[in-house]
Amino acid sequence: MAEKLVYFFGGGKAEGTGKMKELLGGKGANLAEMANLDIPVPAGFTITTAVCTYYYEKGRTFPSTLEKDVQTALEGMESVMGAKFGDSPNPLLVSVRSGSRSSMPGMMETVLNVGLCSSTIPGLIAQTGNSRFVFDSYRRLIMMYSDVVMEKAAGIEVAEGKEIRQQLDRMLGEMKKARGRASDADLTADDLQELVAAFKAKVKEVLGKDFPDDPREQLWGGIGAVFASWNGKRALSYRRIEGIPDEWGTAVTVQAMVFGNKGDTSATGVAFTRNPATGENKFYGEWLPNAQGEDVVAGIRTPNPLNEDTQNEQNRHLPSLQKAMPEAYIQLDGIRTALGRHYKDMMDIEFTVQDGRLWMLQCRVGKRTGTAALNMAMDMLAEGLIPKEEAVLRVSPAQLDELLHPIVDPNAEKNARPIARGLPAGPGGACGQIVFTAGDAVEWTKRGKKVILVREETNPEDVEGMRAAAGILTARGGMTSHAALVARGWGKCCIVGAGGLEVDLHRKTVTAEGNVLREGDAITLNGTRGHVYSGSLPMMDATQNPRFVEFMALADSIRRLRVRTNADTPEDAAKARAFGAEGIGLFRTEHMFYGKGSEAPLFLLRKMIVSKDEPERRAALLELYPFVKKDIKDTLSVMDGLPVTIRLLDPPLHEFVPSGQEEREKLAKALGITVEQLALRADDLHESNPMMGHRGVRLGVTFPEITEMQVRAVFESAAELTALGKKVFPEIMVPVVGMASELVNQRVLVEKVHGEVCAKHGVRRIEHLFGTMIEVPRAALTADLIAGAAEFFSFGTNDLTQMTFGFSRDDTGTFVPEYLEKKLLPRDPFQVLDQEGVGQLVRMAVERGRSARPKLKVGICGEHGGEPSSVEFCHRVGMDYVSCSPYRVPIARLAAAQAVLREKGIRD
Ligand code: ADP
Ligand code: MG
Ligand code: MG
Repeated sequence: MAEKLVYFFGGGKAEGTGKMKELLGGKGANLAEMANLDIPVPAGFTITTAVCTYYYEKGRTFPSTLEKDVQTALEGMESVMGAKFGDSPNPLLVSVRSGSRSSMPGMMETVLNVGLCSSTIPGLIAQTGNSRFVFDSYRRLIMMYSDVVMEKAAGIEVAEGKEIRQQLDRMLGEMKKARGRASDADLTADDLQELVAAFKAKVKEVLGKDFPDDPREQLWGGIGAVFASWNGKRALSYRRIEGIPDEWGTAVTVQAMVFGNKGDTSATGVAFTRNPATGENKFYGEWLPNAQGEDVVAGIRTPNPLNEDTQNEQNRHLPSLQKAMPEAYIQLDGIRTALGRHYKDMMDIEFTVQDGRLWMLQCRVGKRTGTAALNMAMDMLAEGLIPKEEAVLRVSPAQLDELLHPIVDPNAEKNARPIARGLPAGPGGACGQIVFTAGDAVEWTKRGKKVILVREETNPEDVEGMRAAAGILTARGGMTSHAALVARGWGKCCIVGAGGLEVDLHRKTVTAEGNVLREGDAITLNGTRGHVYSGSLPMMDATQNPRFVEFMALADSIRRLRVRTNADTPEDAAKARAFGAEGIGLFRTEHMFYGKGSEAPLFLLRKMIVSKDEPERRAALLELYPFVKKDIKDTLSVMDGLPVTIRLLDPPLHEFVPSGQEEREKLAKALGITVEQLALRADDLHESNPMMGHRGVRLGVTFPEITEMQVRAVFESAAELTALGKKVFPEIMVPVVGMASELVNQRVLVEKVHGEVCAKHGVRRIEHLFGTMIEVPRAALTADLIAGAAEFFSFGTNDLTQMTFGFSRDDTGTFVPEYLEKKLLPRDPFQVLDQEGVGQLVRMAVERGRSARPKLKVGICGEHGGEPSSVEFCHRVGMDYVSCSPYRVPIARLAAAQAVLREKGIRD
């Protein structure tokens, strides 16, 4: 490989920069950036992601020049740190760290204290005079290395509970118990020395190999294992959930160790430059004295608060860093300010204090809740830190979605008593049935249950279960614990460190203040407050945050696409208006035949369907008319001033034929025929492929009186409302059109009825548009011809996807999951518009349609109209609007604004 493989940093400068995330991974790039800012960072070097690609392409081998480059960089580290790797009297120890382009907290591996062995241990003890620290570091090395390198990277699969890490953990626990030591930090040098010997014997026994005693073997073992961890189980599932491409690969950073476990003047911690849960501009963090790396994140002990702002019920009794190590704290606070100014974003940082001296080990843009994202974007805008365009990019559509999610009804909560309190790690409310394992969370959710995953503490292996659960509750861990971090990133309701809980995995119970809850019992979480309730409390929508309104106004000032809603009832229409919908893009008349209040109209529809001839049908339609008209009129009235697209009856009629005996008897009686005669008529309606049968425009062509009735309802409503001073803009939309001739056929009917209603009301014209759905591939292909008869197109991308793929919308469950699993499909095309295939038809139809009718209005009304990447596509092909369900309206508004900013090259 000709390119540079290794990038050095340390001593106040670096070869890389923060912009080089693709090559150095986020961790490596930001370590370089901090070194360049002259922030104290232990020296190190980063092996690029290109080496990772090489490693996988070339059968897990390294480029030939890598060894030499690593050696050179190692020598650079040695001279900055004043110690030598593998040297007996003055050994340098290193960490081997993973880091991909986009952060995957806890999903890949890191090995600390590499370089400790029989030849370096005595030297380090002599040098530091602290044998407890040296053996503590060594036992950590053995635990991490045997797990990461000797077991996982070697591809050894073991039964749950039999992992080497777990076995060593148990030995550690037994040692603590036997010696009466309350925590890891209480183990003495002698305890640890004994433990180390036992660990090595255990490793040999379980893995059949000696623990490597050669620093260089350890180093290269570590480097290979980090690359291998890119394809570890956890990393793979996390990537699938987050949509991170497998090709990116990880970088490896080798960095000089600094030690937070050297005694009481040493410490390690994690902090956020602003509060990641609320967005408040306050320094927020946790730390542990005499500890190393993972200890804080793993939730092994309750961590101390960083400062007063970080105190809570769990940690109030523990000293803050501000009090315990004021000098280090002041320096850290200064770095917080510098990073805030430099990155203009909230950063998540890792630090270690060694003998009172502060070192920075990581910084990255921090994960945050939707609330925090919104508040920080608006704060930073007000502070003049970022421009409005940047502020709009700071809240992702998914985070916005989270803001619209339910919370525990405060009134109900007032009267309920929490059975436990923990830390508010992930926002909103959730209630569900208790499960105790990640596997059960996935399993139960698949069966349609809502579950709360209750754990002692979570570890990265639980990620799929955490994803599946409606909420997460842990007995241990702090705000920076793994569970909290991951939940916050997903906007999932989560409470950690609920100290009063006792989780018994064997009995599958959780006990809180004497209440024993079992698997399957209902439990409610308020993740915003950290309160846990037994039973299920009612939920409600988050109240309108004024900042939400301000933020949406910013987005609206940027977007070009209009956003409408799919609404079938006046209530939905009103709700969508409140969410900012600028019209209805799809009003389905058939909704009135389903659900509440549908009995009377459904009966009349059925009567119409099984009519034997036109006169009988017309009589039934006449009876149905008032229902249809009321529905349309109410909706047009709610949408006063805004357009409403009314789709003519679409579904295959036989869907509505009753199957029950009693209903059939009633219907037969109303028609004056026998049940047998009715059965014959119903059989006539049967179709082998109803989805492609007698539906949509085909109904209107064969039964023109059906179209006439609906169109009359539209025009009569419009004329009456106009007379009342309302501004109504109905748009009549014909479904399932494949040919221009079909549309012309329907237009004749529409014009005839329009003339009749105008005459009746004594007006010259009733304002309206006439157009079609584009949902049959042939319509897209002949869009220029179709546009001759249509004033607007609305893409029905559900059917268009169905017919372009030849996938039945109603049967995808049988094969699409497997297609996704096997990566034959990148995404479910019914959720995320297939831009590569279906998108071509859409693009072509827009172009051809506009070539025939330049002012053609174009929108989308399929499910995709509320999915951010699809909205961006709609923007790019020049649509006028997207239409989506009421709750997706704000998301579409934001996605439409972000599409403009991305198009202009303003990236987030
Ligand atoms: P992750 O990507 O899972 O956060 P890291 O590479 O950041 O893993 O390392 C895990 C822990 O070890 C972190 O807390 C980190 O601060 C600590 N750590 C990593 N390298 C060093 C080092 N050179 N000296 C001291 N602590 C380190
Ligand atoms: Mg880290
Ligand atoms: Mg359709």
